[in-house]
Amino acid sequence: MWTAQHAQPTAAVADIINTMDDNNQHTTHFGYETVEESVKARRVADVFDSVANRYDLMNDVMSGGLHRLWKAFTIQRSGVREGSRVLDVAGGTGDLSLAFARKVGRSGQVWLTDINNAMLTRGRDRLCDKGFMLPAVQCDAEKLPFPDDWFDCVTVAFGLRNMTHKEAALAEMRRVLRPGGRLLVLEFSKVWKPLAPAYDFYSFQVIPRLGKLITNDSDSYRYLSESIRMHPSQEELASMMESVGLERVEYFNLALGVVALHRGFKF
Ligand code: SAM
Repeated sequence: MWTAQHAQPTAAVADIINTMDDNNQHTTHFGYETVEESVKARRVADVFDSVANRYDLMNDVMSGGLHRLWKAFTIQRSGVREGSRVLDVAGGTGDLSLAFARKVGRSGQVWLTDINNAMLTRGRDRLCDKGFMLPAVQCDAEKLPFPDDWFDCVTVAFGLRNMTHKEAALAEMRRVLRPGGRLLVLEFSKVWKPLAPAYDFYSFQVIPRLGKLITNDSDSYRYLSESIRMHPSQEELASMMESVGLERVEYFNLALGVVALHRGFKF
């Protein structure tokens, strides 16, 4: 189901994501649209405000439950054990935080964080319902309110794609890792080429309709499909991670590259 490959450094990739428009405004992508950077965060917030209530149901339906396996694989590669300190960045409704909370026990710490209040509130409530009172912090991944060298493991699942300055966010995640700690990035990626036509059909014809049916919002799920196409490839993301100082960067393709788990260490 997955293949492990070591990343080959490629050219710096920041330029393919953030550029300047004719008026010297910084621009970036919101799906296929080019927007000013200041606009992207608001549009992303609108997406998650709109889908927060039915986000978990939609995830299960859209992925046929596969996102649970991808997250289980992430936990397995995390090295997290009893007593570990874990930061879940863009943790949303808290799937990873919950799994980590079960692993670290009373002597460990798991911090659920997200920039979006609707997603974070839902995550916090879900965790409470399962008996876990974890700290939940609303914050931007690009400016994490945590000290240097603190966490054993930092994760970001399906969040990086939505961030405006991906390298800044990755650098922040590295900063808060202790030496020897690891960063795990679970994200949609570039699918195996022969599968691309079927995957495109599913992404652009089926997913927006499912979004309409389940969340009454097809636009947010069209954004999902477009943002996946605009996200760096496996190799580009690995290079980005190396460019912020992460080491031993490798990635694992899941479901033929529909998703990839990247892992890097801070030494
Ligand atoms: N990690 C959860 C999961 O795997 O189900 C939620 C993923 S959800 C697709 C993406 C999350 O990223 C949203 O909750 C969104 O609010 C959050 N997000 C987007 N930009 C962010 C930023 N700059 N800082 C922190 N969180 C961000």
